[in-house]
Amino acid sequence: MVVVVDTVSATPLRPRHPEKVNRPDALSPPKPDWIRVRAPNTRGYADTRRIVKENGLVTVCEEAGCPNIGECWDKKHATFMIMGDTCTRACAFCNVKTGMPGALDALEPEHVAEATFKLGLAHIVITSVDRDDLADGGAAHFAQTVRAIRARCPATTIEILTPDFLRKDGALEVVVAAKPDVFNHNLETVPSHYLTVRPGARYFHSIRLLQRVKEIDPDIFTKSGIMVGLGEERHEVLQVMDDLRSADVDFLTIGQYLQPTRKHHAVMRYVPPDEFAGYEKLAYAKGFLMVSASPLTRSSHHAGDDFVRLRAARAALSG
Ligand code: SF4
Repeated sequence: MVVVVDTVSATPLRPRHPEKVNRPDALSPPKPDWIRVRAPNTRGYADTRRIVKENGLVTVCEEAGCPNIGECWDKKHATFMIMGDTCTRACAFCNVKTGMPGALDALEPEHVAEATFKLGLAHIVITSVDRDDLADGGAAHFAQTVRAIRARCPATTIEILTPDFLRKDGALEVVVAAKPDVFNHNLETVPSHYLTVRPGARYFHSIRLLQRVKEIDPDIFTKSGIMVGLGEERHEVLQVMDDLRSADVDFLTIGQYLQPTRKHHAVMRYVPPDEFAGYEKLAYAKGFLMVSASPLTRSSHHAGDDFVRLRAARAALSG
């Protein structure tokens, strides 16, 4: 039996996913040849790693074991994960550590802003763990981080990828008031899989959250994504597209789910590239301004280039 231990943080041999340790192994099929990634061994990768560590920051690139880290960090594109490295939820797909998080670091917004400046980023993506333990779910900390980056790097566009702030009344409004350029909240999977894949979340709450962002501030671009290969049916993916368009979401990402360890949800299927291309075509037909659908699509992958295209698409639409 595999023992899933924490190999990322400084406390080795602590179970990274205590709630998953006693689960039976879930076996996934071998990866197909279209899932290829660049090894993380370039000078740019090393520079990015140094800046991340010097500022004491956590990245979702490392914590989630993202397959694109070699490519992204070589270009100095890192996605910072604020509010610690420990999440209060235990989603079946996610490699971020589960447990009771520590206190918030009041200096973290400044450190993130400083790292953004040092990396010279034109576009930054900030995400976080779920902080169900905090009264506001971390909304004020998110907003402070956006403001700190604006103050330090006024030309940098800011994309946030937030938790769902379930049962945290007023939290969303605090984050939206900080005026990020892009508000991303991932649905992760189709509604029929929520109880097994994302048990702490509610599908219609997430849809409504995205819809509320647009109602409060129509200037903010909204974005959401799902993983495929978790056993969903094609018609369910199309339904998700329709639900997101009903919430006026601008940008859709669809990527292949990859299993972090054998204690996580199995990959039920590797979706071939031509199926992703079909999803992309359909999503554009349904009215999304931007769509990224490919095996290695992740919500923060190429986010800067995509933001430029997203803004151009809106400008073209408004004439
Ligand atoms: S795709 Fe996103 S999470 Fe993955 S390495 Fe790139 S920036 Fe990090």
